[in-house]
Amino acid sequence: MEEEVLKKYLKAGKIAAEALEYGRSLVRPGESLLDVAEKIEAKIVSLGALPAFPVNISFNETAAHYTPVPGDTLKFNDELVKLDVGVHVDGFVGGDTAVTIDLSGKYTDLVKASKDALDAALKVIQVGTTLGQIGKEIEQAIVSHGFQPVRNLSGHALGEYMIHGSPSIPNYDTEDDTELEDGMTIAIEPFASTGVGLIHEKGIPYIHSMIGAKPVRNPGTRQILTKINAYNGLPFANRWLTKDFPAFKVAFALRELNQLEILHSYPPLVERTPGAFISQAEHSVYVGDKVIVMTRFP
Ligand code: MN
Ligand code: MN
Repeated sequence: MEEEVLKKYLKAGKIAAEALEYGRSLVRPGESLLDVAEKIEAKIVSLGALPAFPVNISFNETAAHYTPVPGDTLKFNDELVKLDVGVHVDGFVGGDTAVTIDLSGKYTDLVKASKDALDAALKVIQVGTTLGQIGKEIEQAIVSHGFQPVRNLSGHALGEYMIHGSPSIPNYDTEDDTELEDGMTIAIEPFASTGVGLIHEKGIPYIHSMIGAKPVRNPGTRQILTKINAYNGLPFANRWLTKDFPAFKVAFALRELNQLEILHSYPPLVERTPGAFISQAEHSVYVGDKVIVMTRFP
């Protein structure tokens, strides 16, 4: 990898780490989710980068993909909170990192399970490590705590204007003998569940990304599309658009873009087992002669 490009990944990783740590300090009972998300995103900008996706704040049985809506009135109380932050510098997504904050105090071991799984995976990562090996480390760590890894969520390669690249990094032993290669940037993200360890899409999506280009006739939608195009295919939130456009215009445009299949929307990802809880831990890693955990907070 070119030195200049690596520098951008590393800068993004460092800013993501700082923004996540800042976010963790904001998550307190009585605080608003919307405030916390917007403060973290502003922090990323103030540090000289851009969000690679909207800050995800997911509660309890939800593993990922909730982000506050425009005018969101939800507040933190006693939830199990997954806070997930993404950062890019000139398109290079060097920071995708997450932590679980247990406001109830009842899920210490579940939080530890995903954290231990991440640490175990990081220990074996080097050029030549197989995807199956990483998955095995993650699965063993989580199962040893008496929980299940979420099997249909995985880590992923990071790239230029790309957060979910190939290969996917499994959270259980798939016996896949594909090896990590020199110069790869990847995110490792184990999820531990008190349920069956499978998520499904549930609820209204507030995160979207462009997946294609087609002619759009409606002038209002075209105006909004100009702003969406600037995200270069990276995910964005409804509330990012309602800063510049009225909510009803945004809703209309998103519906139209979905119908034209220009847009993909991401509903919240929820455990299939009713009442089950999920924890997550995530770091972004550069794999080379030296392995660098880009999102490690100093
Ligand atoms: Mn993430
Ligand atoms: Mn990720």
